[in-house]
Amino acid sequence: MTFDYRKSLADKLGHLIRGGVVADEVKLRPFTRDQSIYQIEPLVAALPENQADVLKLVQFAAEEGVPITARGGGSGTAGSALGTGIVMALPENGFWAQMDDFNVSGPECKVRCGAGVLHNDLQTFLKQRGYYLPADVSSASISRIGGNIATKASGPHALKYGSIDRFLDQAVFVSDRGELVDTAEAATIPLRLVRQLADLQSRLRNDAKAVNILRQRQRFKISSGYNLFAFLRDISLGQLIAQLLVGSVGSLGLLVSATLRGEIFERQRAAVLGCFPGMVEAGRAVNALRHLKVAAIEMISRETMQVLKQHVSLPNGLDMDAHLLLVEVSGPGCLEQVDRIKTLLQSGGFRMTAPLQVARAEAGIDELWSLRKRILWVIRHPQPHLRALSVVNDVGVPPQLLAEFIHDVQQVFARLKIEVLIYGHAGSGNLHLRPLFDVTLPDLAGRIRKVADAVYEVVFRYGGTVSAEHGMGRLRAPYLRREWGDRLYEYMREVKAIFDPRGVFNPDVVFSDRPITEHMRDDLSI
Ligand SMILES: Cc1cc2nc3c(=O)[nH]c(=O)nc-3n(C[C@H](O)[C@H](O)[C@H](O)COP(=O)(O)OP(=O)(O)OC[C@H]3O[C@@H](n4cnc5c(N)ncnc54)[C@H](O)[C@@H]3O)c2cc1C
Repeated sequence: MTFDYRKSLADKLGHLIRGGVVADEVKLRPFTRDQSIYQIEPLVAALPENQADVLKLVQFAAEEGVPITARGGGSGTAGSALGTGIVMALPENGFWAQMDDFNVSGPECKVRCGAGVLHNDLQTFLKQRGYYLPADVSSASISRIGGNIATKASGPHALKYGSIDRFLDQAVFVSDRGELVDTAEAATIPLRLVRQLADLQSRLRNDAKAVNILRQRQRFKISSGYNLFAFLRDISLGQLIAQLLVGSVGSLGLLVSATLRGEIFERQRAAVLGCFPGMVEAGRAVNALRHLKVAAIEMISRETMQVLKQHVSLPNGLDMDAHLLLVEVSGPGCLEQVDRIKTLLQSGGFRMTAPLQVARAEAGIDELWSLRKRILWVIRHPQPHLRALSVVNDVGVPPQLLAEFIHDVQQVFARLKIEVLIYGHAGSGNLHLRPLFDVTLPDLAGRIRKVADAVYEVVFRYGGTVSAEHGMGRLRAPYLRREWGDRLYEYMREVKAIFDPRGVFNPDVVFSDRPITEHMRDDLSI
């Protein structure tokens, strides 16, 4: 693309929309990166003022034949908020940050929020009213609600509450033809979507093999590919569309606003901390604990704790030479739950390196969570030449297979002679694997691809997923067919063809055969 083309595009867009347009190379820099290993310079960045701007933007992009990529907080770890065409970045204020239509029904509330609302701001808004969104991401200080929905985000409490799809009531989005669609207003849903989705739903439901695969896989947390699980549910067409937007990483439409459900904030909580000599042993304990229906089970490896302690002051009495399990229980009867956990771990033959610790006071529990949630922020540069790169950072397996999976994946890293930091939402079978890459050695791209291939080989052997919560992106797209198999992959392609036949929205982040190291930053050592 020439400089002239960029300038003419920016000029035309500048006349078209009320919001800002950025075309200057220096000012474009913030839009060239997210929290992934990639760097991509867009042609221009557009900052729409309101939804009317988004409608014009999409029509313009389609006419020009330039793809459009939405950007929320840019906290994604798979490079899905980066694009070579127009990046639509939602401003942090005004129309995009509005929260309104708050109403309560029984133990739930509903609130409509702009796609640009900061996750933390929504939680504060809800908490002031006695509620919260249980899909509580650790990137709450930077990620936005549009990005959360588009990645099918979740947090530690997904074990009890599920991912954000469970809390999405209604979505307003802009289609590939520049129509404003409100999934709760049937009259706004284009007829072509109604017909084609109904046809696809009927074929999929009659495909016993596909249904069987979906039923197997909906038993654990997955945010890879399109949310085909929604086709099996008895919901309205509008709700089906809203559910398909979940996890679609901006490749089916651009979210303008969403109505989310909140739950009553649970004040009765307790946490139990167990220290294990081996991760496989901790994995076995996870499987046993899941039957107690606890709210969250987090795992932090010994190696991760050792990096963490260089950055954070840790609570007294924490065994630094062990793998940790943090188990949270909540709701009425949670103290009895603590007793059951203690009995199970103490009498179940699990070896532990220290007595179980129990936190009952809110401050103590919050301290443990803040420790857990800081991991991702502080482990990136554990030593001057080592980088904990996001490469295979969001794998998931059926939780009952977690111990065996950990064993096999540890063997992979031993064979590759790469140290790995492991932590994550073990109760949901979701582990964040952060291999430490020596950036002083040659062929970093080759080593990254090798690690991804080797780890995903094990993930697929266990019927797992390349992404349990962070969502699709150029880092994971080439593995989608292997993970889901030809049959489901082709249904996903049909979904894309129904919503976006001309390929206006975010190419290469769901379907791609390009190497995962294409567009990799050349300054990963910084
Ligand atoms: C420190 C850290 C901790 C994290 N913890 C968690 C966690 O606990 N749970 C979790 O799920 N993830 C986590 N993540 C990953 C990331 O924060 C989530 O994927 C988050 O939901 C992305 O939101 P965002 O607003 O930053 O989106 P972006 O990164 O800006 O975009 C992500 C995707 O959403 C699309 N998108 C954004 N806005 C829109 C829109 N309006 N319409 C259509 N598509 C849109 C983009 O095109 C892109 O494909 C973490 C990341 C970091 C860096």
